[in-house]
Amino acid sequence: MEIDWELTGRIVWCICVVAWGVIRFRPNMKARKIRIAVAKRPPIERFSMFVSQLGLGIIPAIWVFTGVPSAFDRQAGPISVILGALLFGFSLYLFRRTHKALGKMWSHSLDLREGHKLVTKGIYEKVRHPMYSAFWLWAVSMPFLLANWVAGLAGVVGFGTLYFLRVGQEERMMEDQFGEQYRDYVKRTKRIIPGIY
Ligand code: SAH
Repeated sequence: MEIDWELTGRIVWCICVVAWGVIRFRPNMKARKIRIAVAKRPPIERFSMFVSQLGLGIIPAIWVFTGVPSAFDRQAGPISVILGALLFGFSLYLFRRTHKALGKMWSHSLDLREGHKLVTKGIYEKVRHPMYSAFWLWAVSMPFLLANWVAGLAGVVGFGTLYFLRVGQEERMMEDQFGEQYRDYVKRTKRIIPGIY
């Protein structure tokens, strides 16, 4: 039997995106019950969150379900699809661990909740932004999984925009709130890749 690798890539992508939603569902419900004490949401946050959703979800979904823009289709093969599935799979594992460690401190934007505590344990011992590592892995898995250049690269551009516009602001917010405790944490951890960056 001949395997359709292009279709396989599309299906794997869909399953992983649904799994992502399932992992986020309960932590989202729980965190939403805790009031937000500080919301540091500059206007650029809305823009970058939209661009990120567009790149990680909407543009690839359009290609997955309609084949648009077909002019940018490329050949699909087993190695790239398997590699993409492994990357997205690892991303989901990491994503689950970040929600476990952050618990009610999680927020989809730049917020501090009532009684916010700095989390430095679990996966947060390894890097300061493991959830963003997970999003990067999602983005990087897409050029491997999706046999279309536009759909494949949209995630890197979309999430990259959010990441670079946000990470500095987030660290400033955390430093304002936690002072020395956060500065110590910064000294002993990297941002998204242990020991490297
Ligand atoms: N940047 C983190 C968290 C993303 S969720 C990561 O990539 O894993 C964004 C929210 O998480 C921020 O609004 C902030 O309130 C909270 N946050 C980020 N780092 C945190 C930490 N170490 N401890 C507690 N809350 C944190």
